[in-house]
Amino acid sequence: MALKKDQHFNTRVIHAGQSPDTWEGSTLPPIFQTASHAHPTAENLSQTFGGKTTDHIYMRLTNPTNRVLEEKLTDLEGGGGAVVMSSGMAAITNACLALLRAGDEFVTGNSLFMSSYVLFANVFKKYNITARFVESTDMAAIESAINDKTRFIWLETIGNPKMDVPDLAAAAEIAHRHALPLMVDNTMATPYLCRPIELGADVVIHSTTKYLSGHGDAAGGVVIDSGNFNWADSGRFPDLKPFVDRKGPLAFLDKVWREHHINFGTTQAPLHSYLTMIGLDTLALRMERHMQNSMAVAKYLQGRKELAWLNYPGLEDSPSYQTAKKQFGNKGYCGLIAFGLGDQATSFRFINNLKMIYHLANLGDCKTLIIHPYSSQYLSFDETTRQKLSIHSDLLRLSVGIEAVEDICNDLGQALDNL
Ligand SMILES: *Cc1c(COP(=O)(O)O)cnc(C)c1O
Repeated sequence: MALKKDQHFNTRVIHAGQSPDTWEGSTLPPIFQTASHAHPTAENLSQTFGGKTTDHIYMRLTNPTNRVLEEKLTDLEGGGGAVVMSSGMAAITNACLALLRAGDEFVTGNSLFMSSYVLFANVFKKYNITARFVESTDMAAIESAINDKTRFIWLETIGNPKMDVPDLAAAAEIAHRHALPLMVDNTMATPYLCRPIELGADVVIHSTTKYLSGHGDAAGGVVIDSGNFNWADSGRFPDLKPFVDRKGPLAFLDKVWREHHINFGTTQAPLHSYLTMIGLDTLALRMERHMQNSMAVAKYLQGRKELAWLNYPGLEDSPSYQTAKKQFGNKGYCGLIAFGLGDQATSFRFINNLKMIYHLANLGDCKTLIIHPYSSQYLSFDETTRQKLSIHSDLLRLSVGIEAVEDICNDLGQALDNL
């Protein structure tokens, strides 16, 4: 079935990358649960190793089920190609290390997903790689952190849990002025809300574990290459030359796959790709409801006197309201709400009072989820770092699900009533 670029997102999210004509008519992508693929002749296998065919060799390299998901996500983000991996962190690690050598630097925001922060600040440091952290929304600070050693700018579409929204078009303009690629972690927004490549980003990564799969049943990640960055002429990437010679505009993706994904063994299990695709079928519907519900819950919580503060990019008093409105149009803002009840003890009482809302470390599930990051994901962080990352001791992060909004508000309400 031909891919129709002129179809709407809500159609493509279901049909892109699907070709039931080659699947015995199956409407779902088959799970190719095989470690290796037999080849008809010695010549064929040799040609496949030489990149002359797109046949499959071995699961760690490629897999037919994974390839369907790669084609779907490439289409939805408007990219040139993608590689799916075992987790969002695998995708982030591979995407970064494909461009970084010892002594290099990159510029990033200081409101990042927790493991991204640890990877950038602590792990990369051991390999003499420096992440320069600035305010994600401060474009002048981003530009002034760039120097001769900089290899890319890394931003999240919506910072977690600070809920700040950088102007991606402005960041792309700065990056390109310095012959640098802009890489964006689009997990929190999904291509439903924001397609960073359309705003000028060169690389998009996702944790597919969150909204894309949507049911908390499959871990995964993806690196999507726009195919737009000019690696050959940038002057900053002489080591990409052999990949440019081989794959032209998709040199970066080739390096990610050939050098890192294959050799680090960050293989995606085909079952997880299959589950992610089942989830993707309803992405547009789920996101519509996540957006409606989170706006209604934010307004409900805003009216409760027990709250010390609340941050949701869809409310006019949020510092990121204007940028979010410009960037996401009228589709909504995001599915996460950050709020505080004054102190940790009250936050714990509140969580323990909840009856329906799940208390766990995840987001983007169809169920409503809550966590107190200060005492969980950020438990081992020192106080200065927690403050730098806006992890306040009373911060609660709510990932609003797709249940009836009255029931979400009722559960939050009774937990507040009984504090
Ligand atoms: C969860 C998450 C990740 C990491 O993804 P995993 O699949 O858990 O490895 C990266 N970035 C963001 C924004 C996330 O929310």
